[in-house]
Amino acid sequence: MARDKKLIVGNWKMNLNTHEASLYLHTLADKVPVRRDVEVVLAPTLLALQSLSLQVNRRQFKLAVQNLYWRDHGAFTGEVSATQLRGVADYAVIGHSERRHIFHESERDVRQKVQAAIRNHIKPILCIGETARERADGETKEVIHDQLISGLANVTSEELGDITIAYEPVWAIGTGNNALPDNVTEAVKVIRDQIKYLHGPKAANSIRVLYGGSVTADSAADYLALEGIDGLLVGGASLDANAFTAVIEKAHKRAN
Ligand code: PEP
Repeated sequence: MARDKKLIVGNWKMNLNTHEASLYLHTLADKVPVRRDVEVVLAPTLLALQSLSLQVNRRQFKLAVQNLYWRDHGAFTGEVSATQLRGVADYAVIGHSERRHIFHESERDVRQKVQAAIRNHIKPILCIGETARERADGETKEVIHDQLISGLANVTSEELGDITIAYEPVWAIGTGNNALPDNVTEAVKVIRDQIKYLHGPKAANSIRVLYGGSVTADSAADYLALEGIDGLLVGGASLDANAFTAVIEKAHKRAN
């Protein structure tokens, strides 16, 4: 079962060129032992993804693409499809708040991207979460519910086994303003209840749910200890080899 392992995802965002990404991969490879109880996924910039895919030891690290386009091929200048990423990326981060809010990705885009990833054997990491205003207006549950229903529309119970949900409150990403444990526990409950409603208790119990939002080496253990949390999506701290290694070690300790 997927939940037997902790999952730690490092989102490098638009940082590190190809050479720097390669050097960083080798630095991490020296620090992070292969652990059977922790799966580590690196999400480099698209430019570096292909070259890292030739260098990475996939027993040690899996690779994720930070975005993809949902059509398989055609006249879509500047885009890269899940079909082209097949065999290169193991995972795809889909619906990240920076995609939704800076690049105005719609719920329909997110849904199509989830479908495209599944169609091409790339495991989606579907990011959902409320903005500060939505939280202040008491809309957190509705937002999580709506993003989940929309993102997972047309996904079968079997396909759900390959999907990870990342709860990432928008106000917590890159702000240092991380969510309170109670906020995360409540959100995870909403997510699992909704999956239970859609696909039954077995699916609700087996889907992986991550927390993301200003996680550091110091805060990682607190989130990993929360009921229903299977791992972390780490942005800023994943660019610091010592901090990221410490997060992975906390996941290893938690898994034991
Ligand atoms: C992210 O990129 O999804 C993220 C959570 O970033 P940070 O850890 O920097 O808040």
